[in-house]
Amino acid sequence: MDQEQRAVCSAKGCREAATWAVVWNNPKVHTPEREKVWVACGEHRDSLAEHLRMRAFLRRVEALSGS
Ligand SMILES: [Zn+2]
Repeated sequence: MDQEQRAVCSAKGCREAATWAVVWNNPKVHTPEREKVWVACGEHRDSLAEHLRMRAFLRRVEALSGS
């Protein structure tokens, strides 16, 4: 059932398999409990996280579970 559910990196134009979850929240739009997730490959994890960190949206970066 999950065969088509493989996560692909959120970076624009990237089709690599995502191995990281970048968790963020925009307090102007989202309630504090709400968490948005961008998934990222190893190459784009840092740039996506930095993009959010500069806006103070970044909460944490964690490894995606599963194979
Ligand atoms: Zn990527």
